[in-house]
Amino acid sequence: MPEFTMTIGGAAVETTAAFDVINPATGSPHAAAPDCSRAQLDAAFDAAATAYPAWRSGEATRRTALKAAADVLMAAAGGDLAATLTAEQGKPLQDARVEIMGAAIWLQHFADLEIPREVIQDDDRARVEVVRRPLGVVAAITPWNFPLILAAWKIAPALLAGNTVVLKPSPYTPLTTLKVGELLREVLPPGVLNVVSGGDDLGAWMTSHPVPRKISFTGSIETGKRVAAAAAPDLKRTTLELGGNDPAIVLDDADPALVAGRVFDQAFANNGQVCSAIKRVYVPDRLYDDVVEALAAKARSVKVGNGLDEGVQYGPVNNRPQYERVRELVADALAHGARAAAGGAPIDGPGYFFAPTILTDVAEGIRIVDEEQFGPALPVLRYTDVEDAVARANATHFGLSGSVWGTDADRAAEVAERLECGTAWVNTHLALAPHQPFGGFKWSGIGVENGTWGLAGFTEIQVVHRAKR
Ligand code: NAD
Repeated sequence: MPEFTMTIGGAAVETTAAFDVINPATGSPHAAAPDCSRAQLDAAFDAAATAYPAWRSGEATRRTALKAAADVLMAAAGGDLAATLTAEQGKPLQDARVEIMGAAIWLQHFADLEIPREVIQDDDRARVEVVRRPLGVVAAITPWNFPLILAAWKIAPALLAGNTVVLKPSPYTPLTTLKVGELLREVLPPGVLNVVSGGDDLGAWMTSHPVPRKISFTGSIETGKRVAAAAAPDLKRTTLELGGNDPAIVLDDADPALVAGRVFDQAFANNGQVCSAIKRVYVPDRLYDDVVEALAAKARSVKVGNGLDEGVQYGPVNNRPQYERVRELVADALAHGARAAAGGAPIDGPGYFFAPTILTDVAEGIRIVDEEQFGPALPVLRYTDVEDAVARANATHFGLSGSVWGTDADRAAEVAERLECGTAWVNTHLALAPHQPFGGFKWSGIGVENGTWGLAGFTEIQVVHRAKR
C-alpha cells in the first residue's frame, strides 16, 4: 500500500498514476501523491451521493461524528502529521501543529453550532417557519497555503448542515489532506467525506461534474472566475474565497515601533502566504522613516530556514512558480525606483527561500502594490492626507480585508469602517475565529465562510408555511 491514499466511500483507493510532491525547503520531491482518474472521481461523487440520505437525516449522529473528528485531529496535532505539513508546505513545525489544532477547533465549533430555525409568523392565520436544508453533495477545493485549516472551514459547516463532501487539496500540498481523509475513515460513515488528489484538471472536472450542488472554493481570483463560469450552466451554488491585497493604514498618532512590530507579524505570517495578510502599508510622512526602519530591523532579525529546524520562524515560499513570482515583483519594483530597506533578493542555496523584504519609495502603478504578491515582501507607501490614504486603499478590485492602526482607537475605527472590504480590523489584522464570518468584497470573493453565516452557505432556505384556516 502506498504511503498516501485517496479516501472514497470510506476505503483506501490506490491509483496507477501518481505525481511528485516537492519539499520547498529542498526543491526536491519527497513523496508521491495519487493522481485521481475521471472514473475514480465519478466513484467519489457516487459515494457522496449514496451516503447523503442517511447523513442528512441524523443531526445528532452528525454532531457526534464531528466531535469525534475534532478529537482525532487534535490528537494528530502532536504526531507525525505536522512534519508532513512542514515538508509539503514549508511552514515551521510549530505553525504546522497550530494549523492542525485550528482544524480541530473548527470541527469542534461546528459540532456544537445551532442550525437556525426561525418562526417568522405564528398567528390565527398561519405558522410560518424558515428552516435550513442541506444542498446535497459539496465539491470542496483548497489552496496550498493552509491546506488543513481551509479544508476544515469547508468540511465542518458542510457536514453539520447535512451535506456530504468530495474534497480536493492543491497539487502542491495534497499529503496532509489525504492523511486526514485516512484518519477520519475511523469516525465518519463511508462516503460522507471523500478525499481525492490530482492536478488543476481534477478541480475543473469537479466543478463541471453533474453530481455536486455546491462548490466551495478557496484560491486565486483567476481560478475563482473559472469556477464561477463552470458552475453557471448547472446553477451550482458557489462560495468563492479569493485573493486579497490588504491595506494597513497607520495613523499619525500611532507608536511607530509598536505598530511596525505588529504590522510585520501580520504581513509575514506564513511567509506572507495568507489571503488576508497585510500586503501594502500606508504610513504618514511624519512616521514614514521610523516605521520603515522598525520594519526593516525586524525583517533582518528573523530566522528563515527549513521549517523542521529548531528556532526557524519563516520557511520557504511554497512552490517554484510562486517563488519566481515574488522574485519578479520585487525585481520589477526595484527597477522602477523602489529601495529595499531589508532583503530584496532570494537566499542562496537549494529550496525556495526569499529574504524578508521591506520596500520603500513605492506607489500605485508598481506591480507589487497593485497585484497580490503572496510572499515575504512588503511595500510601504507614503501619504500626507488620511482621506487620500483611504481612497488609495479602496481603489482596487480587491476587497478581502484591511486594518487601521492608531493610539486613538475610536478614530482608527472610524477610518476602518470606510474600507471597502469584508473584514475591517482596528489595531490588529488576521484576527480570525470560527464564529466570525470571513469573506471578500469585489473580486476577493462571493459569500462568506465561518459562523452561522458560513453555515448558511451550505444550506438552502425552506419555508414551511402551515395554514391555520
Ligand atoms: P489556485 O487558484 O491556483 O488553486 C486553488 C485550487 O484550485 C487548487 O486546488 C487547484 O488545483 C484548483 N484549481 C486550479 N484550476 C482549477 C479549475 N480550473 N477549476 C477548479 N479548480 C482548479 O490558487 P493557489 O495558488 O493554490 O492559492 C493562492 C491563492 O489563493 C491566492 O490568491 C490567495 O489569496 C488565495 N487564497 C484565498 C483565501 C481566502 O479565504 N480568501 C485563502 C487562502 C488563499
